[in-house]
Amino acid sequence: MKGDRVKGSAAKRVMTMPKTTLQEKDQAEAALEKAYLEVIERIGEDPDRDGLKRTPERMAKAIRFLTRGYQEDPAQLLRGALFEVDYDEMVIVKDIEMFSLCEHHMLPFFGKVHVAYLPKGKVIGLSKIPRLVDVFARRLQVQERLTKQIAEAIQDAIDPIGVGVVIEARHLCMMMRGVEKQHSATVTSSMLGAFRNEHETREEFLSLIRSGKPNGF
Ligand code: ZN
Repeated sequence: MKGDRVKGSAAKRVMTMPKTTLQEKDQAEAALEKAYLEVIERIGEDPDRDGLKRTPERMAKAIRFLTRGYQEDPAQLLRGALFEVDYDEMVIVKDIEMFSLCEHHMLPFFGKVHVAYLPKGKVIGLSKIPRLVDVFARRLQVQERLTKQIAEAIQDAIDPIGVGVVIEARHLCMMMRGVEKQHSATVTSSMLGAFRNEHETREEFLSLIRSGKPNGF
């Protein structure tokens, strides 16, 4: 579109740009596949047997997908979805599905995210909250930082009276290695503004997210 207005050699340059980017992407993809092939070899498997032939390629695609949050800017995501409103009651989005990778073992941790805030003139389009969770969850993470980053992104975007984020998650790096009991969940919270300072506000949030199930599953 922008390129339509550019003439001559400049146009040529614009047209070849995506191709270069594509080549670079292919090279990065190939390097990833090679690394995964080596992992398969190093654990004593035969990367040439039928079931594993395309595994490095699939792993490279999977890890790109699971870490695509690095390509996204949370501030930009929210900027496009802010609305002025005359509403000062608590906004709650609960039971948001979350899948992430722990940065210590690169194994999944997953669970539910509950987000609430008290608006001060501005709200965020509701569908953007799960997307915001994804932007941070689709990176290498620790649960505590993920919780804090979601709260702070909302704080920065709309400067509300307060923000609360609670995450209940189970970590495969603990479950699969037998470090954790199979059904226990790790709960983290980040409370800002009124959610930190006012007992009542925090309690309202916590009672609204409390479900019948003990750990959100
Ligand atoms: Zn871990």
